[in-house]
Amino acid sequence: TEELHIVGGGMAGSEAAWQAANAGIRVVLHEMRPKVETFAHQTGNYAEMVCSNSFRSDDHERNAVGQLHWEMGAANGLIMDTARKHRLPAGGALAVDREAFSQSVTEALRAHENISFTEEEVTELPSSGKWIFATGPLTSESLGKAILQATGEERLAFFDAIAPIVYADTIDMSVAWRQSRYDKGETEEERTAYINCPMTKDEYEAFIDALLAADKTEFHEGETAGYFDGCLPIEVMAERGRETLRHGPMKPVGLTNEHDPQTKAWAVVQLRRDNALGTLYNIVGFQTKMKYGAQADVFRMIPGLQDAKFARLGGIHRNTFINSPTLLDAQMRLKSHPNLRFAGQITGVEGYVESAAMGLLAGRMAAAELQGRELPPPGPETAMGALITHITGGAEAKTFQPMNVNFGLFPPIDAKGGRRGRKDRYKAYTDRAKTVFGDWLAQQGETV
Ligand code: FAD
Repeated sequence: TEELHIVGGGMAGSEAAWQAANAGIRVVLHEMRPKVETFAHQTGNYAEMVCSNSFRSDDHERNAVGQLHWEMGAANGLIMDTARKHRLPAGGALAVDREAFSQSVTEALRAHENISFTEEEVTELPSSGKWIFATGPLTSESLGKAILQATGEERLAFFDAIAPIVYADTIDMSVAWRQSRYDKGETEEERTAYINCPMTKDEYEAFIDALLAADKTEFHEGETAGYFDGCLPIEVMAERGRETLRHGPMKPVGLTNEHDPQTKAWAVVQLRRDNALGTLYNIVGFQTKMKYGAQADVFRMIPGLQDAKFARLGGIHRNTFINSPTLLDAQMRLKSHPNLRFAGQITGVEGYVESAAMGLLAGRMAAAELQGRELPPPGPETAMGALITHITGGAEAKTFQPMNVNFGLFPPIDAKGGRRGRKDRYKAYTDRAKTVFGDWLAQQGETV
């Protein structure tokens, strides 16, 4: 059979190479480091952790990322198995000795008889051969340009500007109400597409004070070039003037509070649906550089969000990613160039674990294709399936921003309103995921 080329030896590329090589495919892994460096990587090792040394929660019963760990372990994932070998004590989190971890991934790949290596920067999208591009958030500039040419301006981002995302069922609808500004829209669904949270003048002033006082993260050197147009952090807007937000994303016009139609809100925070399931809502225009700890406190000052739980907090980072919902098919192939797959953070997932998981799927799918089979993705009830379903179709393409795995991406389990506690509900999600994932492995002749 033909060989498989993988570009990028990060979390996703390393896992993809391991999976395809184990399926009997000859793999060529192209990694530009250490010859060409990024601003965050320090070594020439594969699967280098650029920041935190944690793979986050290892609770596979009640945490979505823990469930993803479980699935990757069940599928003989290199990243997960190696992480477990180099685990450090960290409570419920899977933290590792980062040096030993990436050294060990590098050795495992180098020792594999089906994998060969080039130390080169790939600068073009090849027109022939089977390829997986897993070049990550810091994809090199020349390759970024080549992708831009193939996908178009609108379809490749160099920064993420993430507004916080809230679980819909934690919004207090006795305070908030559904309505689109000026009731715009053809259908009832469109006319009620937004959730609105009203603020009085005092609440607004207190909110601005909290924004100005909150702890913020700094940009890395060289990270900001070209970013400040169009996606200002809310705290920067607030610094420009206390009224700026009230004339921007928090303007109260065209909205009537159904709980109190006589009183005009001083400001309104709007949330917009973030996934097809309607389980997640993002706070419109609220991208931020506030530290995570500060964000939850500040956002819970918004009436209606006092008990909000966040599927992910906001942020702004250097991050190259494509508009997967429009560009990729369900096999993670570029629709316009089906010989090219994408995997990892460049597909619009976020985090070490999510990136490695998408590498695992891409590696298996590419291997199957080279062997004349098609491997369908695992069902959306699994953590891996929920993620791939989100990026290749479930997410809103217009507002697509990178996503962490979370239970809001899973098809709801208690749709008919059973009164299970949140903890029990999470257990029900992960039980169901394990069954479905086990079936998917069984179809490939493997057992959990
Ligand atoms: P990477 O792991 O970055 O791997 C991509 C690889 O491709 C790199 O080795 C790169 O050298 C190579 N490459 C790029 N372009 C080319 C080219 N043209 N030719 C050949 N090779 C190329 N996630 C977390 O979970 N926790 C964190 O604390 C965290 N902190 C982060 C901090 C920063 C500053 C950044 C930028 C990201 C952070 N992330 C964090 C996100 C994290 O980087 C990713 O989740 C994860 O590493 C992505 O995996 P990946 O395989 O997609 O990309």
